[in-house]
Amino acid sequence: MANPYDVIVIGAGPAGYVGAIRCAQLGMSVAVIDEFVRKDGEPSLGGTCLNVGCIPSKALLDSSEHYHRVQHELAGHGIKVDGTRLDVPQMIRRKDKVVSDLTGGIKQLFKANRIEWLAGHGKLLADRQVEFTPHKGKAKVFSASNVIIATGSRPIEIGAAPLDHDRIVDSAGAQEFQEVPKRLGVIGAGVIGLEMGSVWNRLGSKVVLLEAQDTFLSLVDHQVAREARKLFEKQGLEIKTNCRVTDTRKGKTISVHYEDADGKQNIQVDKLIVSVGRRPHTDGLASEDANLITDERGFVNVDDYCETNIPGVYAVGDVVRGPMLAHKGSEEGVMVAERIAGHAGHVNYETIPWVIYTDPEIAWVGRTENQLKAAGTPYRSGTFGFAATGRARAMDRADGMVKILAHAETDRILGVHMVGPQTSELIAEATLAMEYEASAEDLARTIHAHPTLSEAVHEAALAVNKRAIHKAN
Ligand code: FAD
Ligand code: NAD
Repeated sequence: MANPYDVIVIGAGPAGYVGAIRCAQLGMSVAVIDEFVRKDGEPSLGGTCLNVGCIPSKALLDSSEHYHRVQHELAGHGIKVDGTRLDVPQMIRRKDKVVSDLTGGIKQLFKANRIEWLAGHGKLLADRQVEFTPHKGKAKVFSASNVIIATGSRPIEIGAAPLDHDRIVDSAGAQEFQEVPKRLGVIGAGVIGLEMGSVWNRLGSKVVLLEAQDTFLSLVDHQVAREARKLFEKQGLEIKTNCRVTDTRKGKTISVHYEDADGKQNIQVDKLIVSVGRRPHTDGLASEDANLITDERGFVNVDDYCETNIPGVYAVGDVVRGPMLAHKGSEEGVMVAERIAGHAGHVNYETIPWVIYTDPEIAWVGRTENQLKAAGTPYRSGTFGFAATGRARAMDRADGMVKILAHAETDRILGVHMVGPQTSELIAEATLAMEYEASAEDLARTIHAHPTLSEAVHEAALAVNKRAIHKAN
């Protein structure tokens, strides 16, 4: 048996690598096993998030936004650009460089924190032992006082549209197209479908999203989702809800067959993205005699503090219950590290912000109006449109709104919902306010710089008590 560690982490995504660094900061000896291999065959730290998720998708969203602005918006600012050309392979190379810089940064952080990186597969055995199988070479068994499982998630596949990783792709493949598909189909109008659909729509694809549910973005506050849908459709995204994809046939084009309220339909596309959700990644994760309990959907069972049924074995991030978000996993990683070290540690699951990086961006924290209604919670709502803020007008980014929901009796903020410019940044103020259990009055009495987009948050807080200045209440 190889040398014992205080902690072995399986998975180096944002849940695992952040947890590992925190463990090392607290004085523990740490090894991290990760099996991810990038397209050039090299192992890479950072998991889904850095390699094929959050970061590369945002790099492409940013590049495609620049292109769209040059094409459609700069002339309005009095800037005429002639002869713009698109170089998609360069856009993809830039994205790859952003990824390799950041994943290389984690490697440096591991070195600085004396964390051992073991590239290969990790498998939990009985008695907190972990089998490590390197990409090349023989398996070894390590023992650890504690094990943190952070193996993340992978895309769900559907029988009606089997992936060929060329024309029918998942989210990773959707970030590798070397030219703009003329017609792009997307199955699933969720977070990935909208973000990747937006990238290729801005670059010139005709994008059609086929969504199974009746409700568009059912997780999002309904008023905000309705507003967002209108804005996306204005940009040319075609969103079809209540669709059941039944078959795909590949010829010169891909024929996607589906059923909706009007019966059988089909569309022809050149590329098809399947983005119908993700499932926990537990393939080959634990031996039978390790006795690790998972639920019926494959998530590792954990308590409020991310401890599994096995004492000293924890699980964090996408592989456990809760939203599949990088920052949620990272906070769980920190909590577990601190609890292993004997400190207090907790995650406030009520104040996890969400962002969808479309243009405009959708961001929210806390309860939606629909959830408050269903729970019978008395509330007041204050809304404010970006159109009435000077900064959004000056930026030519006046679409969207901020909505604040506060308890009708205590005025405590229960939820904040936004669609509009840079709401990915604005949501931080709302999250902090909720973390501090602020009232709408607290936000309303906080001075916000002028002219900023944050004035829309201020005015929405004032609107909760019907005293917004720049609108009729
Ligand atoms: P992962 O990041 O999935 O990492 C798990 C790692 O464990 C992987 O490297 C995997 O190879 C490895 N592994 C698995 N099993 C084993 C094993 N047995 N042995 C060794 N290694 C193993 N979230 C956000 O918050 N913001 C965003 O903007 C955002 N954008 C996204 C865009 C896309 C296209 C996708 C797909 C996801 C996005 N997400 C975003 C979600 C985010 O990527 C995940 O929530 C996050 O990566 C989960 O972190 P994790 O550490 O739990 O798992
Ligand atoms: P999602 O759950 O956001 O959306 C999947 C969509 O597909 C849903 O609307 C669902 O109703 C629909 N769907 C399911 N089966 C279908 C079918 N057979 N036909 C048509 N539609 C179907 O999942 P996703 O977009 O795949 O993303 C996975 C997760 O990754 C997200 O839930 C999120 O947690 C994370 N993520 C986060 C971000 C971000 O934070 N900005 C970005 C990308 C991904």
